[in-house]
Amino acid sequence: MEKEWLLETRQMTKQYGKHKAVDRVNLHVTQGAIYGLIGRNGAGKTTILRMISGLASPTQGDYTIFGKASGQAAMERTRVGALIEEPGIYPDMTARQNLKVKCLAMGVRREGYIEELLQTVGLADTGKKKARNFSLGMRQRLGIALALVGDPDLLILDEPINGLDPQGFVEVRETMMKLNKEKHITIVISSHILEELSKFATHYGIIHNGALLEELTREELLEKCCERIELKTNDTGRACTVIETLGIRNYQVKDEYTIHIFERLEDSGDITMALAKADVKVLGIAVNSESLEEYFLNLTGGGRS
Ligand code: ATP
Repeated sequence: MEKEWLLETRQMTKQYGKHKAVDRVNLHVTQGAIYGLIGRNGAGKTTILRMISGLASPTQGDYTIFGKASGQAAMERTRVGALIEEPGIYPDMTARQNLKVKCLAMGVRREGYIEELLQTVGLADTGKKKARNFSLGMRQRLGIALALVGDPDLLILDEPINGLDPQGFVEVRETMMKLNKEKHITIVISSHILEELSKFATHYGIIHNGALLEELTREELLEKCCERIELKTNDTGRACTVIETLGIRNYQVKDEYTIHIFERLEDSGDITMALAKADVKVLGIAVNSESLEEYFLNLTGGGRS
């Protein structure tokens, strides 16, 4: 049986004139995920988020959301909260007043609802302070609170951590993690900094020049970047036998010459000696890891855009 995704895009494309801002993108978002859409400026993230939020239509391809095709998703839209580009914040109003306006517009009247939202995003004690005097982190959290009006099951956030100072980043991150864990809200969030996303995202979609280069889970990403001994020999088959005799089990054969070993990182000397004794020629051995940022840059073509 085909897996049912909370959100799935199929060959989703957006073309402006001759330029494809988004090119045949197939995203798969599971319920409960914090899905990080990562790409450089201009990669196409905002355009993707605008389409899945219903603010723009694909020129080709389509998507399903909560099991409904985009054309039939009108009812499901109420289950989606979005913070895309400028959050609609009135600068001369307090956080409470801003939320009140949104609640009125959406017909939400529950007693204590605004207080609850303010608590959730950590803005309960901002009192009479006007939004224009908020820090960027506070503004982003107010933007998130506004997107939460109506209790969405899916929250779509465009670069909410962009430009935040470390304290602001931690506060916005904690807010998102709380919403995901305690309120079971699935989150799709875009960013151009993989290192920051990796502190909380469970799944990743890497976007470059409008295309999806790779989709991977947190575990897959960490595995790709983790520390390991990279061993190059002229005979991987025999090399494996030798390293197994040393009691090493956690390794992977990467290609004809290369083995990655994920344990006993301090023992590369012993490994080299054992291989030499068995007449396996060591072409190279080194402990390496790739930082998340290096991984992302390599994948998206180094310094080139
Ligand atoms: P950023 O982080 O800078 O917002 P992004 O990854 O969100 O980048 P998009 O804003 O989706 O990227 O833009 C993708 C490409 O589409 C860019 O080349 C942009 O110039 C182009 N584009 C976006 N919106 C339009 C539009 N309305 N008309 C024409 N081109 C557009």
